[in-house]
Amino acid sequence: MRQSALFTKTRREAPADEVAKNAQLLIRAGYVHKEMAGVYSYLPLGLRVLKNIEQIIREEMNALGGQELVMTALQDKALWERTDRWDDEKVDSWFKIALKTGGETGLAITHEEPLTSIMTEHVSSYRDLPVMVYQFQTKFRNELRAKSGVMRGKEFLMKDLYSFARTDSEHQAQYDAAREAYKKIFKRLGIGERTYITFASGGVFSEFSEEFQTLSDAGEDTIFVDKEKKIAVNKEVMSDATLQKLGLTKEALVEKKVIEAGNIFHLGTRFSEALGLAYTDEQGKRHPVVMGSYGIGVTRMLGILAEVMSDEKGLAWPESVAPFKYHIVSLGQKGDEVSRAADALYADLTQKSIEVLYDDREARAGEKFADSDLIGIPYRIVVGKEALASGEYEVVARATGAVAKKTHGEIL
Ligand code: ATP
Ligand code: MG
Repeated sequence: MRQSALFTKTRREAPADEVAKNAQLLIRAGYVHKEMAGVYSYLPLGLRVLKNIEQIIREEMNALGGQELVMTALQDKALWERTDRWDDEKVDSWFKIALKTGGETGLAITHEEPLTSIMTEHVSSYRDLPVMVYQFQTKFRNELRAKSGVMRGKEFLMKDLYSFARTDSEHQAQYDAAREAYKKIFKRLGIGERTYITFASGGVFSEFSEEFQTLSDAGEDTIFVDKEKKIAVNKEVMSDATLQKLGLTKEALVEKKVIEAGNIFHLGTRFSEALGLAYTDEQGKRHPVVMGSYGIGVTRMLGILAEVMSDEKGLAWPESVAPFKYHIVSLGQKGDEVSRAADALYADLTQKSIEVLYDDREARAGEKFADSDLIGIPYRIVVGKEALASGEYEVVARATGAVAKKTHGEIL
């Protein structure tokens, strides 16, 4: 893409009311637009990163045998009353809307209820299980805290996976497989090293849930990490009894600030019993389906990566999710030899389907470099008079500053 054609512009200052580093950088670099507190639009650059994050997650969900669907944002009140999750006393984050036909609807906060209900129309026999189903879908939550930028939206994109099994042991196998898939996802997103599987409060059906918590000073959560064993405990369940159960000792733990990137839950039969999702076994006996749920915040991930992969100059995307692989910065003037060489390099890379942003704008070199640092594409190729004279371009890695000299042919 030619930068002269990109409608978004970089800016020096983030909005005064934006306190989160991730949103400040993403707004300044033109990835997101702040609509209001906790509500963001994703502009072309931001959408490219989101799509790349989504694709990594999708590949791992498919490898797990997950089947993708997409459910509705508008929710049926009657269904949520059956699980006792409609009442504001029970769930305080609903956005509820009056219907012209009478009654009300709500904007989806999560999707256990509607999916369990869908499954009752398709699952009836032991032959129909086990199954895993997932989606990328917008959730709405009337969140109080709005200091974390895109990491805590009132409207945000989540990947949610749900598992359906015949027995506890079959469920456990699905849960363990999802856990492994999550490890692969966070590794591919470049945060494997700094993301800890953390024991947290579990809900009704198990003692613990597990959270994938990423180290960051901007985090809202506090965990205690055992670096040797590579596991952690959320502050909310930290007690002598918990430590004993997990075989951990207080002395080996370090307190850390973290952001929750994802979590995995045992749901037991809470939803299947309430909504009548059951199967008939080989002997003709009926049993409730055993469920699990597994979330990853996709828009939150954009924020996490902006938060932990950036420096004072701007963003520094890992190659796996970057909006483009290369940023060509041309120091030429329209029609001169330098800009012709940059044009040729851009054309050849594009021809090979290598993703490249080409700064072909009529602007000062300093401005172009500052913008390039802010936008954070992994490799910058500088096309100037020196490069033409030597026949080699400087290819600068944004994250490390490492410089490689490469000819036109070597870059391709
Ligand atoms: P948190 O404790 O951060 O509020 P949660 O326990 O409410 O998260 P879930 O309801 O299980 O989280 O949602 C699954 C995932 O969705 C989370 O792990 C997180 O990555 C993401 N997520 C949750 N709330 C938000 C939000 N308000 N904005 C963006 N992402 C979110
Ligand atoms: Mg929450």
